[in-house]
Amino acid sequence: MTATATRVLVLNSGSSSVKYQLLDMADGRRLAVGLVERIGEENSRLAHTPLATGGEKRETEGAIADHETALKTVAAELSADGLGLDSPQLAAIGHRVVHGGLRFTEPTVIDGAVLKEIERLVPVAPLHNPANITGIRTAQALRPDLPQVAVFDTAFHSTMPEYAARYAIDVETADAHRVRRYGFHGTSHAYVSRRTAALLGKDPSEVNVIVLHLGNGASASAVAGGRCVDTSMGLTPLEGLVMGTRSGDIDPAVTFHLKRVAGMSADEIDELLNKKSGLLGLCGDNDMREIRRRIDEGDERAALAFDIYIHRLKKYIGAYYAVLGRVDAVVFTAGVGENAAPVREAAVAGLEELGLAVDAGLNAVRSDEPRLISPEYARVAVAVVPTDEELEIAQQTYALVSA
Ligand code: AMP
Repeated sequence: MTATATRVLVLNSGSSSVKYQLLDMADGRRLAVGLVERIGEENSRLAHTPLATGGEKRETEGAIADHETALKTVAAELSADGLGLDSPQLAAIGHRVVHGGLRFTEPTVIDGAVLKEIERLVPVAPLHNPANITGIRTAQALRPDLPQVAVFDTAFHSTMPEYAARYAIDVETADAHRVRRYGFHGTSHAYVSRRTAALLGKDPSEVNVIVLHLGNGASASAVAGGRCVDTSMGLTPLEGLVMGTRSGDIDPAVTFHLKRVAGMSADEIDELLNKKSGLLGLCGDNDMREIRRRIDEGDERAALAFDIYIHRLKKYIGAYYAVLGRVDAVVFTAGVGENAAPVREAAVAGLEELGLAVDAGLNAVRSDEPRLISPEYARVAVAVVPTDEELEIAQQTYALVSA
């Protein structure tokens, strides 16, 4: 790395998409952002915005066969704005990797052994890790000389005590198959809990925070003095809150029941619980905007889906309040948490005895800034803090390679 190398390219490779951001860590500026979607299909789509030059978003459609072609196309777009991967200013590439298992609890420079270990984790993250691995291999081929760093979604949760991380099942079976609670969305929970402490004017070590990451996927975490002590997702991102298309917590016997009584296969049940459940399964829509619109029109299915979503959320707030003992802030983040005022209001309604309340006026304000929405008298702060997983990945990556 040269003295002037302060840029980090963040890559988030999904099964059929690549999201990317190029950031300059000298000032935290975003130089370019973009997304390649529908990789492997005829109508792949690339949207690229060169923020550094103040350029307009450029959108192109046409077949992009695989991740390698996708990344090469992204590299060409970046080059067109003088931000190419060959730039000496590029310090590293930071990769979001979903599952780090027990081995990876910190951001890690990727070498052959690390990549092998990420591959070894594919059985516990079959939907996510393979795409992450493809992204890493492709980026390595493009810039073999550049440090590539893996930032794991599970890492922030690795501080969970054993009694929170273990399922109450036979220990030998669990250990033989690495069955335990890992948690996900960790970069978001880390970033948001730290940012909340700053909003309160405190050091992260001084505050206890309940983070509610409510996007299409959703998870809650209990963070004590900057360390995660519990989180709602488990072996996979299926556990916990009601999500856009995932059921969250259910009695595990539902799966045997569906197998025995409905004759469904394991894959069919997997698909049902991950892709056809949650808000979508309950009312046919997984977008909270649409659900609110339907409720306003008197739609009872949408209203029931909303109530089920809120009921689960409330149960987790109560549970994590009990886990933490003292709570300084409850913070909402991600698509729903940042934008849906009715969700925030309903989740906290009736919890005044716990010191929780929302000020209707503050809650209605739309803003991209971290902000408090609780009234001044409230014992516990309620906050909205926009998440920024890319910035967190870039910061962790840069900290590692510039150390
Ligand atoms: P994320 O996964 O964090 O990108 O969040 C995506 C979800 O945020 C969408 O599926 C919507 O349910 C929700 N969302 C986004 N914008 C709004 C909004 N203005 N009001 C309510 N919900 C929203």
